[in-house]
Amino acid sequence: MRSIQMVDTKSQYLAIKPAIDAAIHEVLDSAAYINGKAVQEFTLALGNYMKVKYTIPCANGTDALQIAMMALGLQPGDEVITPSFTYIATTEVVALLKLTPVFVEVDPQTFCISAEAIRNAITPRTKAIVPVHLYGHAAPMEAIMQIAQEFNLYVIEDNAQAIGCDYHFSDGTTQKTGTIGTIGTTSFYPSKNLGAYGDGGAIFTNDEMLAHKMRMIANHGQQKRYYHELVGCNSRLDSIQAAILNIKLAKLDEYNRARQAVAAFYNQQFAGHSKIVTPFVADYSSHVYHQYTLQLNGVDRDALAQYLGGVNIPSMIYYPVPGHLQPMFASFKLEHLDMPVTDALTNSVISLPIHTEMDEEQLNYICSHVLNFLNQ
Ligand SMILES: *Cc1c(COP(=O)(O)O)cnc(C)c1O
Repeated sequence: MRSIQMVDTKSQYLAIKPAIDAAIHEVLDSAAYINGKAVQEFTLALGNYMKVKYTIPCANGTDALQIAMMALGLQPGDEVITPSFTYIATTEVVALLKLTPVFVEVDPQTFCISAEAIRNAITPRTKAIVPVHLYGHAAPMEAIMQIAQEFNLYVIEDNAQAIGCDYHFSDGTTQKTGTIGTIGTTSFYPSKNLGAYGDGGAIFTNDEMLAHKMRMIANHGQQKRYYHELVGCNSRLDSIQAAILNIKLAKLDEYNRARQAVAAFYNQQFAGHSKIVTPFVADYSSHVYHQYTLQLNGVDRDALAQYLGGVNIPSMIYYPVPGHLQPMFASFKLEHLDMPVTDALTNSVISLPIHTEMDEEQLNYICSHVLNFLNQ
């Protein structure tokens, strides 16, 4: 059996090596390492895939969030509502820009921000909502957009974990997550569903003015070279990463289906077990399984992880400490926030290996060991 990894980027590369190597060499030969043809081609292809008007490539998913928040003109002290149960980048950027993160609860089934919790957290200082499509499942965007409209708030979708996910609206229409809010952001970190072989990110919007402003912010606030109209940053997707991503974008749906097949296998093996809750999929969302995350019920999680590690099965806790309890936010004095769902998830979730190159032998091996432990 091939060794099991959380994400097997090496095996995935080997399966597409000739195309990737040729694309990289084409960039090397062109010597257009920054802003080359590959970047333009990828940006266009990605925009078409997402069915969004404007796509702005940038250096990583964290920068994408930062550029989005800068473009909205948020002022120090403005409140931004975000889930506490997410990767730190989402909320770190809020604090970096001197905005005030307002942490709210997630839904215990989808692990995504709760629309009701958003509503309850709104104050006169609230300016934006940053939902995260966690683990590859959509946040409840229809309800979120309704609240945003009602209270005149911006919505920035953090789509770093859910590229390719479909959102089904109650009127029967479907849109890609990341294209529904005011702005959407994503990451091409190697382990993401659309992963580069280095860093990368992108920003999406249907608003022409915002697109224009974000393009400038990502490029030192300039439109014309050496004429800097606003304070921006330097955030570029390089040509080699774009060339790699162009090849992988054409396979994204196939890759997401491979992840869905892995999840279906796990679900079937774990169905009805009293000690685990398998991932929930709401009718409004597809699931692209950036992670396959179980909720444990009366199980010693550390002992399970240790047992799995002992038989060479990796597992991860995403995320062991919620945002509101991170020392970086100590000055906001959030340690007494009442977050029962987030606290419970923090203590009960465990993610199993999931990627595009898993085979049935590996899956059987993982499932039998998980069940062995649970049934002992
Ligand atoms: C990965 C990730 C990011 C940040 O992306 P980077 O490219 O690593 O900067 C932001 N938000 C979420 C939810 C992520 O998973």
